[in-house]
Amino acid sequence: MSFANSPSSLIPAYARLPVSFDRGDGVRLWDHDGNEYFDALGGIAVCGLGHSHPAITAAITEQAGTLLHTSNLFSVTHQENLAKKLCSVSGMDAVFFGNSGAEANEAAIKLTRLHARKKNVEHPVVITFNGSFHGRTMATLSATGNEKVHNGFSPLVGEFLHLPYNDIAAIENVIGNKNVVAIMVEPILGEGGIVVPDNGYLRAIRKICDDQNWLMICDEIQTGMARTGHWFACLAEQITPDVITSAKALGNGIPIGACLTAGDAAKLIQPGHHGSTFGGNPFSCRVALAVLETMQKQNITDNAKTTGDLLMNSLTESLHNRPEFKQIRGRGMMIGVELDTDCTGLVNTGLNNRVVFNVTAGNTVRLLPPCNLTESETSEIARRVADSILQHCETKTAVTDA
Ligand SMILES: *Cc1c(COP(=O)(O)O)cnc(C)c1O
Repeated sequence: MSFANSPSSLIPAYARLPVSFDRGDGVRLWDHDGNEYFDALGGIAVCGLGHSHPAITAAITEQAGTLLHTSNLFSVTHQENLAKKLCSVSGMDAVFFGNSGAEANEAAIKLTRLHARKKNVEHPVVITFNGSFHGRTMATLSATGNEKVHNGFSPLVGEFLHLPYNDIAAIENVIGNKNVVAIMVEPILGEGGIVVPDNGYLRAIRKICDDQNWLMICDEIQTGMARTGHWFACLAEQITPDVITSAKALGNGIPIGACLTAGDAAKLIQPGHHGSTFGGNPFSCRVALAVLETMQKQNITDNAKTTGDLLMNSLTESLHNRPEFKQIRGRGMMIGVELDTDCTGLVNTGLNNRVVFNVTAGNTVRLLPPCNLTESETSEIARRVADSILQHCETKTAVTDA
């Protein structure tokens, strides 16, 4: 393959896998040599409706031939309609659009500053959590609770207070800190290893934020858009955060991010406070609207739940006897299989078995497949993933025995 041999003109920001894809259809991907793969990663939680979904392709082609961009100097009809739809499925009141997850979180972090001004707090502190991931811009990497993301980029943007995840007492301990103005939390840690907190965790955070007049920000960039069996994972606890951020599956592959606000938080940003040239353009909003309409019509929230349960149950059945198997965690189509050793190499075993997934937190196989799969497609993913993990464990055992 010429692409692999010629020197790259790219900044080497990524460690690339030895496969590249030409085409996708639903849950399937095809590489340069025509090999067919099952995609259990969905472009890292982006392709919630799978690849080349006909309704999304139709929206893309129609809007591309009609109008791409006018700027936010003018009102944008599809932006208005998309905001209405997002509010109706989430219970939120108003939306700002950017082009990525990090930008959605940047808007949320700017809201914490405006909220601090209202509270007369001069040096605001935002609580985030160990193991969290919020993005790669300077403010969002500073918010991220992972030193690997910080390394090399000091001075960080202040001030974020990193506390242990799923630990309400740790938050209660800092209530005396009058500089705290907000808590930013992932309903399930994604990059951090698919860590599912105890039931009631988000409700307890909501209560603390209400009592202290702190903003509650749910980073739903990975958990949102039907993935966990709800439009947004926080809705499972019947709460309304002050802010929800969304991106990834919102555009099914077209870049778009959204910062959803409720109540007083919806009134913080006034003209002149924030903006984006591309954000909320007719094209990305028309496509995201088609994503929401298609998900709604095909009842994707319920499908994510039933297929997610099926995937989790069949993986448990195949793996529970292996000593290397530690735990399976998740909600809906957001699933992590934790092994007792570092298993980064398992990604390549998967590719050999023609299934795409990744490994996060070093020892957790992460599955984020499309949310519109049939039962038979889901079972095929379960079979290929289980086979890959079993092969990996057997090779390790053979090496240890030798
Ligand atoms: C992916 C992700 C982000 C960053 O999104 P980008 O679009 O890569 O900027 C932020 N938060 C969470 C929880 C994510 O999973």
